[in-house]
Amino acid sequence: MTNTTTSPLRPPRVRQPELALWLQSRTKTVYDSWLARVHAYPPSASGRVLAPLAEADLRRIYTDLCASLETGRFAAFDESLTTITRESYRNSYRLSDLLYILIALTDQVWQASTAEFLPEQALAYMHALNSTLSSALTHVARVYNEEVQAGVAVDLERAQWRLAQLDRAKSSFISIAAHELKTPLTLIQGYSDILISDLIDPNNERAVFVAKGLAAGAKRLQQIVNDMIAVSMIDNEMLALHLQPTSLSHVVHIVVNDLKTEMTDHQVALEIAPFDPTIRPIFADPQRLYDMFTHVIGNSVKYTPDSGHIKIAARLLSPGQDEEPVIEITIADDGIGIAPEHRERIFEKFYGTTDVMRHSSGRTKFKGGGPGLGLVVAKGIVEAHGGKIWVESPGYDEVKRPGTTFHILLPMRTTSPSTHDRLRLDLNPARP
Ligand code: ADP
Repeated sequence: MTNTTTSPLRPPRVRQPELALWLQSRTKTVYDSWLARVHAYPPSASGRVLAPLAEADLRRIYTDLCASLETGRFAAFDESLTTITRESYRNSYRLSDLLYILIALTDQVWQASTAEFLPEQALAYMHALNSTLSSALTHVARVYNEEVQAGVAVDLERAQWRLAQLDRAKSSFISIAAHELKTPLTLIQGYSDILISDLIDPNNERAVFVAKGLAAGAKRLQQIVNDMIAVSMIDNEMLALHLQPTSLSHVVHIVVNDLKTEMTDHQVALEIAPFDPTIRPIFADPQRLYDMFTHVIGNSVKYTPDSGHIKIAARLLSPGQDEEPVIEITIADDGIGIAPEHRERIFEKFYGTTDVMRHSSGRTKFKGGGPGLGLVVAKGIVEAHGGKIWVESPGYDEVKRPGTTFHILLPMRTTSPSTHDRLRLDLNPARP
């Protein structure tokens, strides 16, 4: 080889065009052996048989590598590598397969050159190949990663589209089902009322029991239908609020009073800490707030085992300059708690953490999962008032009972807003 010097003081030097000529003349010892090797890949360390590239692809790599080394122009080689990498990605090759195939070529060059030359000379051939192959490896890795990223972006877009479709399907299901249930429900309620008041002999205990059961079932169904209607309105941003001066303390006390039977059944002790005296009545929809608190406090009763405690407290958060004061209401129980992976998702439609088999017709039966709409309604109502709701819990544990705390923020709006005026809280309290 003309440019090769074997002086021990100066390492031999092989230029790339020379390497190209040598590679072209050694297709048997380099290319053919590489091809055979790639096609007979042994299982990798993980036991997986590496997928060999098609022969045409390997030939293309080899030919374009030689041409690039000969001319010093690497654009065509890069282009071939780009195309092959993209196709390989689409055919589920792993990046490690591709890199291994290129490294196998280097190894083959090393084997052929050491068989033919003295070690220093063989090293010189490797040296000439080194920079080209290492940039080929980098190029393949970059193109492959670009493909992965593009694939992830497409998958993500597809998943988001599917999620949006699913959400629309859920919304229209809720709205249709609520609409369809309304008429038969009114009939059941009306007839069970007639049965109780006019038709049944009040001394016939069994008949009274059955008719009252019918009326109670219809009432529970009515609550579910109301939630479905509310969710459908929230989804369509049509939840109307009838704003009037409302005492939060008053609403909370009514809700707690209405849940008394359930609390007695569960032997749950509920304490309402005296509300911060600076909290004034706010312009709000008392009925909607009643529904919201019923869902949140009702859940505390439902997910707190017998002889548990619930504490409700309210304070005024000191506002920043030019900011509206904000009321924070906390509802803390020492019940079973919520696992971290469920904390955000419990505010989604139909999301429940309990086994479907445990679903119960009772509104507050211990752990008796409901339809999974209560917190969606609660969140929609809070947000329609310009507020925020979130949950904190150290985790789920039925024995240790780490408990759950719901936080509700409502702006202390003391002047009458216009109907379309929806408040938006800028305040972003630090959440642990
Ligand atoms: P559901 O009708 O299932 O009660 P919700 O929307 O009211 O639907 O609640 C969603 C889920 O949030 C419940 O299934 C329950 O797993 C969880 N959850 C809500 N409140 C509590 C709480 N205080 N303690 C523990 N888990 C709760």
